[in-house]
Amino acid sequence: MTSASEQWMARSLKSVWHPCSQMKHHETLPLLAIKSGQGVWLNDQDGNRYFDAISSWWTNLFGHTNPTIGDAIKKQLDTLEHAMLAGCTHEPVVELSERLSELTGGRLGHCFYGSDGASAIEIALKMSFHYWKNTGNPEKQAFICLEHSYHGETIGAMSVTDVAIFRDAYAPLIRNAYLAPSPDPRSGASEDGGKEAALAAADGLEKILKEKSGTVAAVILEPLVQCAAGFIMYHPVYLKRVRELCDRYRVHMIADEIAVGMGRTGSFFACDQADIRPDFLCLSKGITGGYLPLSVVMTTDTIYRAFYDDAVTRGFLHSHSYTGNPLACRAALATLDLFERNDVIARNRRLSSVMTQLLEPIRQHGKVRHFRNKGMLWAFDVEMQEEEVVTFPRRFFQVALRHEVLMRPIGNTVYLMPPYVTTEKEAAWLAERVGMVLQEVIGA
Ligand SMILES: *Cc1c(COP(=O)(O)O)cnc(C)c1O
Repeated sequence: MTSASEQWMARSLKSVWHPCSQMKHHETLPLLAIKSGQGVWLNDQDGNRYFDAISSWWTNLFGHTNPTIGDAIKKQLDTLEHAMLAGCTHEPVVELSERLSELTGGRLGHCFYGSDGASAIEIALKMSFHYWKNTGNPEKQAFICLEHSYHGETIGAMSVTDVAIFRDAYAPLIRNAYLAPSPDPRSGASEDGGKEAALAAADGLEKILKEKSGTVAAVILEPLVQCAAGFIMYHPVYLKRVRELCDRYRVHMIADEIAVGMGRTGSFFACDQADIRPDFLCLSKGITGGYLPLSVVMTTDTIYRAFYDDAVTRGFLHSHSYTGNPLACRAALATLDLFERNDVIARNRRLSSVMTQLLEPIRQHGKVRHFRNKGMLWAFDVEMQEEEVVTFPRRFFQVALRHEVLMRPIGNTVYLMPPYVTTEKEAAWLAERVGMVLQEVIGA
């Protein structure tokens, strides 16, 4: 007799091509056949539970089957499920745009919508390029991205991504960007919170700008944490310097807050911690609390004005069929309601310091390096032989499931991105389980 989970897994492997996976690995690596979710928990088809310690790829900020978000979608469902956004508008998209704009103090007051993170990046890149063209600078066509950057996996987004595994196989399809040094503090010995590394990286960026700014449209970066490359956390002074450099050399600053926005790093926007405003701010992932695909690029009046004209070709001619979907906008509005109603940023601050204390034994572990934390995000590197790094994430994933935790390390970097609804009791449980998993995978 095979279990219900095994049956669903077998059916899935026949018909579903899973993302970011070598399907052959699933000959031995089980798929988690999920039946339901509730709060921080996911339940499989056999009735086992798993703590979703990575908020389902960083999207489910308020856990699973959250009643506030669910009810908002249900209510919208009986009013208007979808209407095209070209030539039409509707309440949810207007309200969401106004609320998001307010969160930037009106400084990023124009919202352009996409369906997922990568499409937001495409929009920001195209918009920046087109702005320069519309303002008489058609030679500004290039982009600068950072070492270890990740901005998604469509062809344009890959061109500003520096993660070999996502990029190398498709290299001939990709237009090259200039690569500026990462503000990664891990190589430096200094105990200054990474300030020196940040300033050195900014100098590296300036070198490129000095030489190339005449042909550069924008610098794109992930504020405070380079997530997909292994949760590289850096000093906010880097963002301040990039803002200054972008102004001085007349290039746009694109802040990709798809992963770090929506409170993840301890402030609503990660850029808030450097007290700066980018020219473009991209949000997705957590924006609907993990309910529906939605992304948005927010930008300034200056940029908006450069497209405002009688000529059609000077407009921003970009669209996705589901742009501004009302159900997704309602989910996003309910997510913003949760932030306001429950004072989430302040609550997370307390939870973050509790969790960091709970993880102290892990920080002390002999093979753990560079334990780091920003807001509701923790990461550490595990020392191991180079040849172990390839299989480590899969081994860790499997052992973690046996301990009722869903986690997917990136290389030798283990990270936690729990939902904001995690209670202190659940946090204590999770910290203990992560310790057990680590013990089992790499020893004491
Ligand atoms: C996930 C992510 C993206 C891509 O978003 P998708 O919705 O997966 O296309 C882009 N940038 C960053 C920083 C991300 O973490």
